[in-house]
Amino acid sequence: MREDRRGRTRSGSYNGAYDEIRIEELEIYAHHGVFPEETGLGQKFFVNAVLYTDTHAAGLEDELTLSTDYGTVCQFIHQFLTDHTYKLLEAAAEHLAGRLLLKFSLIRGLTLEIRKPSAPIPLPVSSVSVSVTRGWKRAVIACGSNMGEKEQYIESAIRKIAEDEKCRLLQCADRIVTKPYGGVEQADFVNGAVLVETLYEPEELLGLLNRLEAEAGRERKIHWGPRTLDLDLIFYEEEVIRTDRLTVPHPDMQNRDFVLIPLSQIVPDWIHPIYGKSVSVLLEELEGKNKA
Ligand code: ADP
Ligand code: MG
Repeated sequence: MREDRRGRTRSGSYNGAYDEIRIEELEIYAHHGVFPEETGLGQKFFVNAVLYTDTHAAGLEDELTLSTDYGTVCQFIHQFLTDHTYKLLEAAAEHLAGRLLLKFSLIRGLTLEIRKPSAPIPLPVSSVSVSVTRGWKRAVIACGSNMGEKEQYIESAIRKIAEDEKCRLLQCADRIVTKPYGGVEQADFVNGAVLVETLYEPEELLGLLNRLEAEAGRERKIHWGPRTLDLDLIFYEEEVIRTDRLTVPHPDMQNRDFVLIPLSQIVPDWIHPIYGKSVSVLLEELEGKNKA
């Protein structure tokens, strides 16, 4: 575990957790670069990719359709890097990684390196490269509404999340009706939660949730006051995030039965990375406190 400069503690690594399909030194002539001679004349690039996946079924059955065809992946990489022109290797790698993850559904994550052996630098260097590791991440989102067509606000937000190409809906909790929280006199809430896998970074996912709240006509007037739609990011993998805009796990989730009840239906065994307790244990403890 390490803390990066964006205030995130990450343990994320695909190494060891998955099988690997490796593509080495795929040579492609393309036009990426900052200088006119690079975009005009073009130059050679080499691509290395490690695809993290599960090859067990394909291995047992000796059946290509159960795996990812590396030939097709190579064709896709070649096509992408010749169809597009990026100034930066960072951009080429970022966009190509995203496209590969969207296109090949069995790839859980990948490490992609793009290498430029003839970079225009007036010094002897054998090559420069950029390498990125990207993949599908699991996240839990809680939703609530206590104004207007509450069910519909929640329904429509979940549909939009599911329709976003960078999110896949894995599980959806039953809706529950709950009493308001935080001491403001107001109508009952409808609450729910979903488990998704996503290519968004946590801040980007929060951005999507805030956009959906705005589309539902949410106005932030009173803290804990009535709202058409509230979407909170509860968990993002096992990450601990503390930035000005975002705290994950959600800092108050352990005190909210309207969050823990839907969560206990879809992710009862998810361990809270700070308290080291599962969702079902947190709910039991909260119910114990509420009775006392
Ligand atoms: P609450 O959800 O606690 O009732 P709000 O929805 O009004 O409160 O959110 C207030 C602010 O909380 C938002 O502007 C958002 O940037 C911030 N925030 C911090 N962490 C999270 C998180 N994990 N999920 C959603 N919002 C968060
Ligand atoms: Mg909120």
